[in-house]
Amino acid sequence: MNVCVLGTGYVGLVTAAGFADLGNHVIEVDVDQHKIEQLKRGEIPIFEPGLDTLVQRNHQAKRLRFTTEIAASIAQSDVVFITVGTPANFDGSADLSGVDRAADGILPHLRENAVVVMKSTVPVGTNRRLRERLAAHPTVHVLSNPEFLKEGAAVDDFARPDRIVIGIDPSDAYAKDVMQRLYHPLCLDRDRIVWMDPASAELTKQVANTMLAMRVSFMNEVAALCEKVGADIHSVRTGVGSDARIGPKFLYAGPGYGGSCFPKDVQALCFTAETHGVTLDLARVTHQVNLRQRGVLAEKLRQSLPTLKGARIALWGVAFKPKTDDIRESPALTLIETLLAEGATVVVHDPAAGEHAKLRFEGRVTVVDDAYDAPEGADALVLVTEWPEYRNPDFDRLRTALKRPVLIDGRNVWTADDARARGFTYQGIGQGGLTV
Ligand code: NAD
Repeated sequence: MNVCVLGTGYVGLVTAAGFADLGNHVIEVDVDQHKIEQLKRGEIPIFEPGLDTLVQRNHQAKRLRFTTEIAASIAQSDVVFITVGTPANFDGSADLSGVDRAADGILPHLRENAVVVMKSTVPVGTNRRLRERLAAHPTVHVLSNPEFLKEGAAVDDFARPDRIVIGIDPSDAYAKDVMQRLYHPLCLDRDRIVWMDPASAELTKQVANTMLAMRVSFMNEVAALCEKVGADIHSVRTGVGSDARIGPKFLYAGPGYGGSCFPKDVQALCFTAETHGVTLDLARVTHQVNLRQRGVLAEKLRQSLPTLKGARIALWGVAFKPKTDDIRESPALTLIETLLAEGATVVVHDPAAGEHAKLRFEGRVTVVDDAYDAPEGADALVLVTEWPEYRNPDFDRLRTALKRPVLIDGRNVWTADDARARGFTYQGIGQGGLTV
């Protein structure tokens, strides 16, 4: 099949390379000339495990091409995926200007019976809006196919999705057949496609993210309670998560959720609900709790040090989660801004996101290439992102490097008793209980 993917971000690039790897001919279009030039040279503009091999293999096999030329790309494509960004506006609503521009850009070039698929996360009603925008085309088919991949595991998520949600007009047998054929190779072991109407598909994506965010925010509140009552969040999580009705995932306390999805999707869902006269109290509070939680690491530093003014603070991790270079809405950003505002100096290490941190803070923080250079002479080390390489560090080396033996473990990956036995002042999140 001839496929065009608009947008070479985390979703677009994985989608394009994934479909190319299944034998389709895929054209990746982006408005960002620099990204397209990089991709043509075989460079991958983002860090995503396994993506470089996948892209290079399919690029070399000529099944995956990159261009900024929209007209010819759209004209030869049976299916057009829109994967452009949908960031939050100031009022929390989704900014759909990228989607609108993409729609206007493709309209004059769509071939007969082109299937246009919205993969970006969009508020309910966007499918209708897109149909209206493309209404001048007599035979276009407009579908919703929200993406559920996880950064850090996106390549595997493409190949083995939990489910493929497709929102479609029930009378559109042509588009249903096209999507079935396109996704058939991913459904050989079991049918993963969940068919529904477009509004339900749009809502499914935002509700899924909001529910995951809700679990995280609730556990962060429980962690604060643990610290007050002498309970341990590890134990509570294990006990609660072993209930088969609840399950163990997304129950980890930490410095608040981040990334380009949860924060904006929770807010966008609240906004959409309110425009329809419905108040989603749980979702609203989920967001508020998360904003509050972003302050937790700075507060633990204030408790552990005489003053932040003039202190040198080392951070391990700036990406919003491990195995990605994405720092959008990372809790590390809030922490760094707070530390700088209170007169501290900040030195950061991240295995993949260091360059993004340099660009974001424009010389206001020091970014180091070796993890152990960060704590050298620092008053405290804060673990913000639980990259595997931070999980079992050389504590003796850390003890020697740090000016004060202060460890703040924002992800509860180190063992409190162990760290304290080695002479560190250790604080995790919600670790008020006794080791049993
Ligand atoms: P991104 O910001 O990484 O990439 C978007 C890309 O689209 C950019 O390269 C941009 O230059 C390009 N673009 C913008 N307008 C364009 C146009 N008119 N034509 C062609 N290209 C254009 O975004 P992302 O993280 O890949 O997310 C894309 C969408 O997918 C968002 O709606 C997001 O919420 C959703 N989503 C993201 C993830 C994730 O983990 N990142 C997961 C699921 C869903």
